[in-house]
Parts: sequence; structure tokens; C-alpha cells
Amino acid sequence: ARSLEPGPEGPETPIQVVLRVRPMSAAELRRGEQSVLHCSGTRTLPPGGGPEVAFRFAAVLDGARTQEDVHAPAARSFSCTVFTFGQTGSGKTYTLTGPPPQGEGVPVPPSLAGIMQRTFSWLFDRVQHLGAPVTLRASYLEIYNEQVRDLLSLGSPRPLPVRWNKTRGFYVEQLRVVEFGSLEALMELLQLGLSRRRSSAHTLNQASSRSHALLTLYISCKTAQQMPPVGPGEPPVGGKLCFVDLAGSEKVAATGSRGELMLEANSINRSLLALGHCISLLLDPQRKQSHIPFRDSKLTKLLADSLGGRGVTLMVACVSPSAQCLPETLSTLRYASRAQ
Ligand code: ADP
Ligand code: MG
Repeated sequence: ARSLEPGPEGPETPIQVVLRVRPMSAAELRRGEQSVLHCSGTRTLPPGGGPEVAFRFAAVLDGARTQEDVHAPAARSFSCTVFTFGQTGSGKTYTLTGPPPQGEGVPVPPSLAGIMQRTFSWLFDRVQHLGAPVTLRASYLEIYNEQVRDLLSLGSPRPLPVRWNKTRGFYVEQLRVVEFGSLEALMELLQLGLSRRRSSAHTLNQASSRSHALLTLYISCKTAQQMPPVGPGEPPVGGKLCFVDLAGSEKVAATGSRGELMLEANSINRSLLALGHCISLLLDPQRKQSHIPFRDSKLTKLLADSLGGRGVTLMVACVSPSAQCLPETLSTLRYASRAQ
């Protein structure tokens, strides 16, 4: 298995891909659906084929694996991006943030916390051991129909423009970036954004399955020498952690040959298509120096310096084991296996 820690030359590939197969849901079991996805080691084997159709990933986590197991490969670095990809209902939000609260005041058990909460705890631990004053800030936004909405806004949210300038690169104008000083305060910001996503899903007819949610943590230190370098031999700079809960990938079919990630879609989800396109260009060694079309969507603009930089990127591809989901599962497996 490849190491998920960057080596001396930085990460071996720009993107590490992990597959997570969630357990059969109660509804799937009630409907008598069969669990058909066979996992073994770092491979998964869809039904109806021999070993040659197996898909291989940095790690394959089946339904028996815990939230802690899924967090283990998440990059522990001050410069990283984690995103979840998969059809609606495959476990993207669960993987990043755990299950929704079961009711008012009913806490989610810490064992079910997702990659985000676990990384937040890790971050505070690391920052305390730096022994230098560090400023931590967070922003949280949603991209729906190519419109950016601030999930932490104080007033009622309106679409915010994405702009570019030389010093900042792409940024969202008037996005609220909140300074926080404790783990509890950060968890509250996460909960605020999550509850706003859930309520917009209610009013906008499942908008949450068609929107991307992007939480970014900015780490900066006045005495930059205290910061760990982003890559070996790199000067220490401020860090940035990015967590992206992508829109449902259904109706976005991955096709193509020779390792090319080509997307064919009935869907109008331009961001998801543009992301696939940028990833395939970033991965192609011949085209390393070539132009990457980050400008093609809001999502890729906002991820440009994360994906194009020296940081570590982890993609968790999420699938259901049910036979009923197999067509979408195969499309996710193809997309994910071409992103590595
Ligand atoms: P998505 O965000 O991809 O649409 P969700 O994360 O909302 O999917 O998951 C769909 C449902 O399945 C939710 O009720 C969630 O709590 C449950 N679920 C997802 N993954 C797991 C898992 N690994 N273990 C237990 N329940 C899960
Ligand atoms: Mg979700």
C-alpha cells in the first residue's frame, strides 16, 4: 500500500483515493436488496466479472470499518484538502461530519464523529504544541447552481461573487471569515453551517444533494518560522485545510479510455464536470506544465490553489453495497480510480 504521508519529493500523486463502502441501510435491507460489492484488501470487486475488473485504491474500507478507520488515512498536514465524492445517500456527509443529531440536545457520540471533527481536534493539539501564537480562522460556503452562499453569514444570505487578484488568487467577495480560539467555537461554526445546509435542503427541494459545501480553515502565525513547512525545502507559510462535501454524482457518468477522466453528463452540474477535468489534467504527467482550466467553475476556482499547490489531497469515494445502486457505484468507481 502506498503511504499517505508525503515523501521527500512531496506526495507521489497529487491525489490519494480511498474507497468507502457504507453498510446496507435499514431501508435497503427492508426492501430485500442484495449486498453485492465484494471488498478484499485494497481492491473491490463488482459482481459479474473476474479479477481483471477489480478496482484498486490506496485503501478500501467496507461497511464494518469505523469512523476512526476512515480518518486514519486523512492527511495530517497543515496544507490539505479532503473531499467526498459519490451518489446521494452513499455516505459523503456521514464520512466528513458524522450522522445528523437525532434530536434537540441529543449529542452525537464522539465515536461517530467524522473526518472533519477529528481533524479539528488534531489541529488544536498540534497548534498547542507549536508554542507560538497562531491565528485560526474559518469560512464555510455552499455552491448551488453556480451560486456561492455564505453558510456563516450574519444576515440572510445572498449570492456572493467570486473574484481574482494577484495576491489572493480566487476568493469570494464579502465572505465571512471568522476567527476562533477554541475547539468548541469551531465545532459551533460547523454546526451552524450544517444546520443551514439541512434547512436549505428542506426548502430548496433537496438542494443539499445538488450543492457542494466547502469549509476552509486558515492557519497563520506571526513568527512564520514556527510553522511546519508545507513541503520539504519549502519556506514555512500559513496553512490551509479544506473540506469539501461534493454534490451527488448521480447522472454524471465517467467514460473514456487510456486513464483519461472524461465526463459525460446529462447533469447540469458544471462544477463536478470541471473538477473531473482539472483532476485528469493535473494527473497527466505530459501535461504538468499545461494550463489547468480552474476558471471553468466556481468550485474549481475556489479549489485552485489547494489542488494545484503542494498540499496533500485525499478523495474519499463513497458507495452503497446494494445491487440497486450498482450502475451509480460503477460510475463512482471509474471516476475515483481515474483520479489516482
Ligand atoms: P450523502 O451525503 O452521500 O448523500 P449521507 O452521508 O447523508 O449520504 O448518508 C446517507 C444515510 O446513510 C444517512 O442516514 C447516514 O447516516 C447513513 N450512513 C452513511 N454512511 C454510513 C456508515 N458508514 N455507517 C452507518 N450509517 C451510514
Ligand atoms: Mg450529503
